[in-house]
Amino acid sequence: MTFQELSLFFEKLEVTASRLTLIDILSELFKKSAKEEIQKIVYLTQGRIAPFFEATEIGMAEKNVAEAIARAYGSSKAEVLKFYSKLGDMGAVVTQLNSKSRTQSSKISVKEVFETLTQIAKTKGEGTVEKRAILFSELLKKLDANSAKYLVRIPLGNLRLGIGDPTVLDGLAKAKFGDKSKRKLLEGAYNRTSDLGLIAETLWREGLGAVLGLKIQVGKPIRSELCERLPNPEKAIEKMKVVDVQYKYDGFRVQIHKDGEKVTMFSRNLENMTHMFPELIKGTLEQVKAKTAILDTEALAYNPDSEEFLPFQETTKRRRKHNIEEVAKELPLKAFVFDLLYKDGKSYIDEPLTKRLEVLKETIKEDGILISTKTQTVSDSQTLSLILEDAISKGLEGVVIKKLDSKYEAGARNFNWVKLKRNSSGELNDTIDCVILGYVMGKGKRTAFGAGALLVGVYDDKKDEFVTVSKIGTGLTDEEWIEIKIKSEKLKVKNKPARVNSLISPSVWVEPKIVIEVLADEITRSPIHTAGAFINSSGEREPGYALRFPRLVSFRSNDKKAEDATTARELIEMYKLQNKK
Ligand code: ATP
Repeated sequence: MTFQELSLFFEKLEVTASRLTLIDILSELFKKSAKEEIQKIVYLTQGRIAPFFEATEIGMAEKNVAEAIARAYGSSKAEVLKFYSKLGDMGAVVTQLNSKSRTQSSKISVKEVFETLTQIAKTKGEGTVEKRAILFSELLKKLDANSAKYLVRIPLGNLRLGIGDPTVLDGLAKAKFGDKSKRKLLEGAYNRTSDLGLIAETLWREGLGAVLGLKIQVGKPIRSELCERLPNPEKAIEKMKVVDVQYKYDGFRVQIHKDGEKVTMFSRNLENMTHMFPELIKGTLEQVKAKTAILDTEALAYNPDSEEFLPFQETTKRRRKHNIEEVAKELPLKAFVFDLLYKDGKSYIDEPLTKRLEVLKETIKEDGILISTKTQTVSDSQTLSLILEDAISKGLEGVVIKKLDSKYEAGARNFNWVKLKRNSSGELNDTIDCVILGYVMGKGKRTAFGAGALLVGVYDDKKDEFVTVSKIGTGLTDEEWIEIKIKSEKLKVKNKPARVNSLISPSVWVEPKIVIEVLADEITRSPIHTAGAFINSSGEREPGYALRFPRLVSFRSNDKKAEDATTARELIEMYKLQNKK
């Protein structure tokens, strides 16, 4: 396939406002892809040259891309950047510059473009910036206007196609089996490997049997198992009978992969965070008694002498890209290991929790940076209440209780794992992670920013759509408005993104990327919001769910992708729970 053909598909994907059409276009694209190129096409469709979890970045920032564009079209870097600040999209800049010069048809293949981007990513050493700009501008010169428009967006990480992983899976299923609902067949492999390119290539080369047989692999993150909620210890024991109780540490999730001397770490949203936590690498190498292993852990700043857990706001200072060694000394992390998924060539995800915990105990040498989670089997609600109180008095969030015989269900959120937190009556005792979908222009104080309220939504994981729950206007400081403005400026889109389902039209649509943590007093039913709304059997619209008195608590975009936001299903569960207290 030529890159020109691929870019024409990108153009169609960018302009559609319907998720079903996205799937149709993707399916057509995939049908036309040969087995030698399907993997590359899948990555490029997501604006990448590798799966999300690989740290491979093309390594060109705005200025560098501007330099390349200037070289390719005989313009100057200053002029390119001037256009960019006016248009907000490097793709649009190129369209303008390119139409001034020439439009050509280009025969350059997807493979060639992919390989050049990979070469750019691998360029190292002296003069890297310049070498990258030259390679990129040579590539640009060979491309027609539409292809160039999409190419320049790739290194900037903003292809603007609005495609999520489930939509790619739908597209693959539709291309291969003629039916998007067959995505289910591919989901298991996706949950185990998180690698859409690998799944596509395996499917194209070896068929479905081979995809179903894809095992977890050291080096590829496994999608995290998540927790359901229950209102209190009584309800928990009533439903789950016997459970394993563990503290719920309030840090961030780190999946540690050990492959001999090589240690890799992934966040909850599958990003590679290896470079951020040198002390955890050291701890793993010193304490894990296995050649290969995959551990599920929660990392946080902890003082073992005083047994003090530092609050999340402190711990989160460690999610940074610069001065790592320095900050690691000031705020060293511990990793509480609560699960073992793989050890010395054997996958443990299908073993019961009790077995996994037993092997975990044998695998970790104690007294170090890695600490195996304390576990306790409990079958009565009084004991469970006491442990919950104890956890809260230690400054923890609560406890996680787990079914003893449950397998590790990658990517699932069900009653195998349940989180119990402090019950504060009246208010919701859990925050909601929302995605910014747009903003509504306002008057008065905030006119400098232009927004009076944010339109926010949650994620409907069944439909792979973002559905609205609230407009948020209060609780944001001026600094936060400015931060949101800077972040959303680059994500502004002309039309409603295809995966957004909303009855409200904000003044400005924003690509669903920014995740914010929101606290609300209550969840209520609402006819104007689409979260949880559906058309009943008599063809009437059932109301959705909304947040009452919502206010911003924090930005979560560092550790959550839009698809990791609270789901519509969770919101409905929380609605039911609030009436049970
Ligand atoms: P929250 O915002 O409340 O952390 P979440 O959406 O990130 O929720 P949940 O499924 O609600 O995720 O809670 C599970 C999270 O709790 C895990 O992702 C993990 O990071 C953390 N955690 C802390 N201690 C444990 C533990 N012992 N077992 C499992 N998860 C734990």
